[in-house]
Amino acid sequence: MSVLDQKLKDAEHVAIIGHIRPDGDCTGACLGLLNYLQAVYPQIEAEVFLEEPSVKFAYLKGFDQIQTVFSQERPYDLCVCLDSSDQERLGEGRKILELAKDSLCVDHHITNTDFARTNVVKPDASSTSEVLYGLLEEDKVTKEVAECLYTGIIHDTGVFKYPCTSPETMTIAGKLMSTGIDFSRIIDGSFYQKTYVQNQILGRALLESVTFLEGKCIFSVVRLKDMKFYSVTSQDLDGIVEQLRLTKGVECAIFLYEIESQIFKVSLRSKYVLDVSKIASYFGGGGHVRAAGCTMSGSIYDVVNNLSEHIERQLKELEPKEDGEQKSAED
Ligand code: 5GP
Ligand code: MN
Repeated sequence: MSVLDQKLKDAEHVAIIGHIRPDGDCTGACLGLLNYLQAVYPQIEAEVFLEEPSVKFAYLKGFDQIQTVFSQERPYDLCVCLDSSDQERLGEGRKILELAKDSLCVDHHITNTDFARTNVVKPDASSTSEVLYGLLEEDKVTKEVAECLYTGIIHDTGVFKYPCTSPETMTIAGKLMSTGIDFSRIIDGSFYQKTYVQNQILGRALLESVTFLEGKCIFSVVRLKDMKFYSVTSQDLDGIVEQLRLTKGVECAIFLYEIESQIFKVSLRSKYVLDVSKIASYFGGGGHVRAAGCTMSGSIYDVVNNLSEHIERQLKELEPKEDGEQKSAED
């Protein structure tokens, strides 16, 4: 019996919550659990709360049941927090967690603060969806559950290419495939497809990007006025930082977008050596070794300068000694 089954034994009302600005892993894990509970524990009343879920995940069963207004009318027997490394990241969901009689956090962030009563945190797992799969009974994973978890896994692994992808990830993905999911459509539709304006803003961000630290770093920014001009939201900026990261010779990519005047959401990505979770944590954020984020205020110049100092210092520390020159896969 998994820790999830133990927690569900006496629960009647369960709340499932994720992090602010929910991504594919967060949305997939939350809906995966909802569908699993509805199929396996029909006596339990389960509800999902997420802030502004992206419509690109509308093909997932239960998407229309997501509640975006966080009601506090009753204390839930159990609050399951998915893909959130700390309580701040829960946003309004925090109120639900605080009122709940019991709580379970399932996550894969190295920066997780063990904030729930019980925490299942696996920093080596590709995604929260992968960790969650380990808590479910395999033969009870329906096609609908599989669609959700597969979506979560492809989003956090960049379709099985980031180093967080392990043989275990592939084994689980294979098992999910065997339920008959249309994986090609899921990958194209939710990961690669872009709307016309999303392509335009991506193009503009690439055009205006700047390299520094001898080409090892690249940065770009989208200001509020640009977002207004193209009528895009932050969700339309997905994938920009990844395209920046792919630039030949770049070890670290920084992408900023303005949330309010002089306040920026920062996305950091690294390729082979830099630990960006350390840098994001320093500025009050968190994440993973190769993908992390935080929020910073000041002018664009200040923000990039502050980040650059940390990047440069780490790169110096990582420099190979004398004759141990590292060979890059890009050479
Ligand atoms: P992204 O750059 O795509 O927003 O986030 C990359 C990774 O960093 C994700 O795993 C995300 O959960 C984490 N992350 C991004 N922003 C923050 C933040 O402000 N605080 C924390 N704790 N984690 C963040
Ligand atoms: Mn995740």
